[in-house]
This record gives sequence, structure tokens and C-alpha cells, in this order.
Amino acid sequence: MTTGTGTCIALIVAGGRGDRFGADIPKQYCRIAGEPVLRRTVTAFLGHGRVAAVRVVIRPGDEDLYAAATTGLVIMDPTHGGASRQESVRRGLESLATHAPDIVLIHDAARPFVSDAVISRVLDALEDSTGAVPAMPVIDTLKRATAAGDRIAATVERSGLWRAQTPQGFRFAPILNAHRRLGGTELTDDAAVAEHAGLEVALVDGEEENVKITTRADLIRAEHWLGQGCETRTGLGFDVHRFGPGDHVTLCGVRIPFHAGLAGHSDADVGLHAVTDALLGAIGGGDIGTHFPPGDGRWKDAPSEIFLRCAGAMIADAGGRIANIDVTLVCERPRIGPHRAAMIAAIAAILGLAPERIGVKATTTERLGFTGREEGIAAQAIATVVLPSPRSK
Ligand code: MG
Repeated sequence: MTTGTGTCIALIVAGGRGDRFGADIPKQYCRIAGEPVLRRTVTAFLGHGRVAAVRVVIRPGDEDLYAAATTGLVIMDPTHGGASRQESVRRGLESLATHAPDIVLIHDAARPFVSDAVISRVLDALEDSTGAVPAMPVIDTLKRATAAGDRIAATVERSGLWRAQTPQGFRFAPILNAHRRLGGTELTDDAAVAEHAGLEVALVDGEEENVKITTRADLIRAEHWLGQGCETRTGLGFDVHRFGPGDHVTLCGVRIPFHAGLAGHSDADVGLHAVTDALLGAIGGGDIGTHFPPGDGRWKDAPSEIFLRCAGAMIADAGGRIANIDVTLVCERPRIGPHRAAMIAAIAAILGLAPERIGVKATTTERLGFTGREEGIAAQAIATVVLPSPRSK
């Protein structure tokens, strides 16, 4: 894929040990809200329409961590870094020399929240600059400390000062040459390498959210930040259908041969009706009867997955996601166990959910009551939905 400036490869630097982090595994492989930091970072670049490919620079020995974090992503093979960040970047750039992209975006693996907009601003700036760096203006007043570090020696003029972020974008050949020529000089970022070589580097607006995860506290803050603005809702559903004439029942989307059928206007799938009502309940979305009135001829003998799909779409429209669903079918017969996996798969397919977010269980009522007398089947369901909270919408 090409940009206005040519082909672009993102080089993600993940070679660090994170001595300031104090974890068993390096910070770039730790999880934020269940997803490895590196995976979030790589995905941000893979999802950008102007980035043709992504390569990660890893520390030798981290291959297993890398493989686990990038499972299923379409990405270039990783390459090994060196003893310092600068050496890792240089080796990463050398590994791309045969690919000769026009543009390289050099990015810290530990900045997983980089946005499409920041990446685009860097790429745009490269149309008339050799380098481009996202940065934030320094807002806080800066103090220089005494040698002992416990007294103020001076106040530093902050106007014109910026905090550099990544991705730092460069035309490929000049930045590779700049790194090659640097020798042993250690600089703190690639913009400094470019400046050292006399290359022009543009400043573009960064984002406060584009934080670098450096300490364990940063990781916890990031988790908190991701979870903020969301609220968890639960909903309950209950349904009963009586047995009638027929040769099969449909339960949780699965057709099961039986000596009777379930009576109802639709396919009378008592399981999916309970799940649908639980989902609607979680978002205050009424119930199945308000959306699909039994008197409406359109729903006669309709497959109940239509109702469930609708509830799922309402949650998606509200910006929500389903955390889990649990349904219990109450009957003496048919036996549910042999069909449980198929039922979970059916609900998962209708809602686009992972099967492990769905529970299907069955019980009898010890031959008591209408289910005990085999007059019908009951089902109850509970659903948990995560919605944006009103103030963050
Ligand atoms: Mg019903």
C-alpha cells in the first residue's frame, strides 16, 4: 500500500527489559484488560490504511512471548534487537533495507494507545519533511534541581518545549544512514539521531492518551482508563412454552427430534426467548413482545434467532458489548446434555460471541409442577452487558 509519500513500514521496538517495571515478564508482553500491550500496539498500525506492513524488533529469547502476543496477526517476521534501544532500532532498520520502504514509522511497543489520527498526522508531515515527530507542549512549570536533588536551583523557561512521543516517522534511506553514521553515540530517540545528522524533523500534535507504559502504576492506570466510562448491566429473562403436537422442539437454536412440539407463534424456542429478554432487559430495551408482537403475522413460525439477532444489534447500536450469557433450560425431557455444545455454538454464531462467554445448563424440577408433569419447558437466562456510561457517550 502506498501513501502520498510512498510505501510505509512500521517498526515496533519491543527489545526492552523494562528494569523500571519490576514484573516477571517485560512490560510490552503484559496484558492490559486481557490483551498484551504489544498486540494492542501492533494492531493499531495494522489497522491503519496507509501502513503496508509491521515488523517488531524483539530481544533474543523473547520468541515465545512474541509468538503468544501476536497469534493470528498478519505481520512480518520479527528481527532481533541489540543491547540498547538505539542499537535495536538500527538493527531493525537494517533488516528492512532489502524491502526499501519509502517511509518508516519507528514506534515504542509500550505505547499501545497510539491513534489513527496521530499516525496520519506524522505521515502527512512527511510529505514535505524528512522526519516528523508527534509531541505535546510542556504545560507544567519546569524546575532544575540542585546537585543534591532536594532544592530548586532554577526555573526553566518552558515556552517552546515539547515532549516527544512516537511513532517518529522518517524517509527510510536518510534515517538508516543517520543511524549507520552515529557509531557509539547514544541518543534518546530517533528524532535526536536525525537532528544529529542534520535532517529536518517536523513537529506534529501528539495525544495525551498516547502514553508510554513505563511502570507497573502506568499499567494499572491504563487498565483503569480503559475501563472508565463503562458500566456493567445485567438483565434477566424467563419464558415458558407448552408442549403441543409435533415431532421436534427447537431449543437454543438447535432442532431436537421429540415426540411432541412446543406451541407458540414463532418456533417457540423457549431458550432463545429467555436469552433475548435478558439482553433487552440489560439495556432497558423492553421485552420480546414489544418488539415482536405475537399478533403480528410476520413472526408466525419465525426462527427465534431473528429476535436474538435484533437484541444483539440493539446492544451494538448502543455502543455496548455482551460480556456473558447464562441460560438454564428446565424440563424432564428431552435430554439437553447431548445438545449443549451445539446450543452454545448456535448462540455464539447468532450474536458473534466467543463460546466461552455463553453458558447453557439444564435441570429438572424433580417431577414437580408443570415441567415435572411434562406439560411444557421453561427457561431462564441472565445476561451481562458492558455499556458506555452516559457521561462518556
Ligand atoms: Mg416465548
